[in-house]
Amino acid sequence: MSGLRTRATLHDLVPAFVRTPDPSLIQLAANEAAYGPLPSVAEVLAREIERVNRYPDDGAVGLRHTIADWLGVEGAEVTLGAGSLGLLEQVMLALCDQGSEVVYPWRSFDVYPQLIRVAGATPRPVPLREERNDLETMLASIGGRTRVVIVCNPNNPTGPAVGRPELESFLRRLPRTVTVLLDEAYFEYVRDPAVPDGLTLLRDHPNVAVLRTFSKAYGLAALRVGYLVARREIIEAVDKTHVTYSVSRLAQAAALASIGAQEELGERVEATVRERGRVRDTLLSQGWRVPVSEGNFVWLRLGAASQGFGKDLERFGVAVKVVPDEGVRMTIGTREENDVFLEAAGAVREAELSAGG
Ligand SMILES: *Cc1c(COP(=O)(O)O)cnc(C)c1O
Repeated sequence: MSGLRTRATLHDLVPAFVRTPDPSLIQLAANEAAYGPLPSVAEVLAREIERVNRYPDDGAVGLRHTIADWLGVEGAEVTLGAGSLGLLEQVMLALCDQGSEVVYPWRSFDVYPQLIRVAGATPRPVPLREERNDLETMLASIGGRTRVVIVCNPNNPTGPAVGRPELESFLRRLPRTVTVLLDEAYFEYVRDPAVPDGLTLLRDHPNVAVLRTFSKAYGLAALRVGYLVARREIIEAVDKTHVTYSVSRLAQAAALASIGAQEELGERVEATVRERGRVRDTLLSQGWRVPVSEGNFVWLRLGAASQGFGKDLERFGVAVKVVPDEGVRMTIGTREENDVFLEAAGAVREAELSAGG
């Protein structure tokens, strides 16, 4: 033993890197956008490359105010982070003490429990109900130590979202001392009109913080930039945990350019939403059970068959996300990529049926 001493909180954790799938496979495992950067965004990045010897604007003042104007909020109600994951970690560090509790849906975004524990807080997972966040049980799980409730809407990896009446009823009964972190990583893909835009909840519910990202619909996953919208006291607390220069110069420039390219990006999102419908309909016609999805992905709850399905898909050249013994999540890709996936899923289904499964 080296005599190394580390934070007690970390002792029962392991380093949790997300594994990158074999790059020779069709990449439908990480909910990334199917398309590379828009030419206009690529151009801005090429120009910004020339300045990487200079630190970024640490407060991302230009981007912060552009986002605030775009969303119709104050600059002091917005902050930027190294992906929405960077902000998620900052929110935990800003709001939790050792022993605080964080209530969150499960199965949901894999990284929630680790981020909660790294902050010294205690995870309080609440099982999904019909593949969406079970807000009633989450409310019942709140105690005196609860500081944060994460609502993942729509839920990753399952797809369904909670509607406005349900969410408002939950918020009305929630103690004001508890902050709701509304993770809207897939906001741009939501089409069900019953699902609220989290920003419309902020006025009546000042304990809500809305988390969004440029990684998914904006296609900037590798650049790591996300934003948080909340009342100024929350933003100020979160900004105290900011890691200096953590939102890079390239990330800021690309995010700014993307906000200016809404129309072209909107067309790409629309294409993904159309493909989501086509993929789900085809899977249903093949005999799979698939929940409705408001994200850029669909979920097959295959239980113990999940690992086998993942392996089968690999043989067809497709990487999907396998949650062992629970299910498989497929990211909506281009039409051609989706066709390869659908053909593979159909073949697996045929083989199962002829084996009497
Ligand atoms: C992908 C995803 C994120 C964030 O990703 P970043 O790349 O860190 O912005 C956050 N929450 C959920 C639920 C996601 O699926």
